[in-house]
Amino acid sequence: MKKIISILLLLILVLIGIISFRTLTATNYQRNIKASPAPQLSDSALLHFQQAISYKTISYADAKDWDSVPFLHFRTFLETTYPLVHQHLAREIVNNYTLVYKWQGSDHALAPYILMAHQDVVPIEEDTKKQWTFEPFSGTIKDGYIWGRGTTDDKINLISIFESAEKLLQQNFQPKRSIYFVFGHDEEIGGNHGAVRVAKLFKERNIKADLVLDEGGILTKEKIPGLTKPVALIGTAEKGYLTLKFSVNKKGGHSSQPENETAVDILTKALVTLRANPFEPKFVEASQDFMKYLGPEMKFPNNMAFANLWLFRPLVVNKFEQQAASNAMMRTTAVPTIINAGIKDNVVPTLATAIVNFRLLPGDSSTYIIKKVQEIIADNRVIVQPYDENISEASATTPTTSAAFQLIDSVVRKSYDSISTAPFLLIGATDSRHFNQISTNIIKFSPMLDPIGFHGINERVSIESFRHAIWFYEQLLGSCK
Ligand SMILES: [Zn+2]
Repeated sequence: MKKIISILLLLILVLIGIISFRTLTATNYQRNIKASPAPQLSDSALLHFQQAISYKTISYADAKDWDSVPFLHFRTFLETTYPLVHQHLAREIVNNYTLVYKWQGSDHALAPYILMAHQDVVPIEEDTKKQWTFEPFSGTIKDGYIWGRGTTDDKINLISIFESAEKLLQQNFQPKRSIYFVFGHDEEIGGNHGAVRVAKLFKERNIKADLVLDEGGILTKEKIPGLTKPVALIGTAEKGYLTLKFSVNKKGGHSSQPENETAVDILTKALVTLRANPFEPKFVEASQDFMKYLGPEMKFPNNMAFANLWLFRPLVVNKFEQQAASNAMMRTTAVPTIINAGIKDNVVPTLATAIVNFRLLPGDSSTYIIKKVQEIIADNRVIVQPYDENISEASATTPTTSAAFQLIDSVVRKSYDSISTAPFLLIGATDSRHFNQISTNIIKFSPMLDPIGFHGINERVSIESFRHAIWFYEQLLGSCK
């Protein structure tokens, strides 16, 4: 007995030893690069941003709502506001509205960089109009923020790129490497008329880029618990997109004598079963990198858990499951978004349908998920089929060892004082997903600190964020000399 107890004690001691050793010796991936202070924000830059918000460049899901006028006016605004960019860069208009600029580099041997942003914004939901503090397209400045639809998504990136390029041109800057700017006009509805067309064009022209940078991860002080400094989340991969339609057909009839099971019952049961059986949690490469970069930056016990995933994985999974955003980082998600059945209060419907949106984790292909959904529901009365053509597989992962990641990581560090950085799996979709044949080095990052109201009410971004965004792009473009 005594012997067994001493062996057990020894084992516990060894375990504690291993855990502590791994925690204390975890590699620190935070590079020691000094930030240079961001220059003052000019009144003119701020005014330009406000003006950019006033153009209602809305993309609607329904093509008949499309209004081209704001896009044409916005284009004219860019031409008059940024004369040097329009004088020195070649502009091409793709499919009437998407803007592509080429800043010719002096060294033809170097592969280009591509910077992306989108012109379009999501509409303001009718029911929410009254809840906005300021008119959504006014670009009001209040409490240190610029308010309005499109401030965070994605005009901060678009305007900061123009401001920094115009400023560098004033200083007679000439890049060595060619730089493209790609500004799509339908990102919010899938990018099929904008980014997809540009990617096709670039492929035909054999353009291969060393870096594609698009919107994505942000800087946050609030979103990740356990950190003392803000962290810049640099997107190295993004989830895929799939929507399925579930349909159930069953004879309806009079509601005075309902069958034991109706089409609505069958559909509801399928949806409940699907939601009750979430897909397997997995820490994909981008998420493992996230933990490697942030673990040592965290306090006890988070640092210990991240450094010893072999032991604490169930605890970490449990923690991630408690928040919608972190849960979405580790599994393919499924959620019903549209449900339809019935026409009259006393008629049992014959057809019930549900539209279910999936966000695919890298590794979970759309074909695999469709098969898996059918297995989970296990009811062949529910017909499962793709809702539309708008299917994207999850992106490949840009390695943290790539020159592209290292470049963005260093420019971020040069632009912000006292921050951490971390690779990141983006759970939303961006236009850059269409560029996987143009580059294997795609980074998704939006230089702004804790923006508010993304796609929602009172969307706004701080003036400080805008000042640093221009500084970030200025240093990034400047690195091409
Ligand atoms: Zn966006």
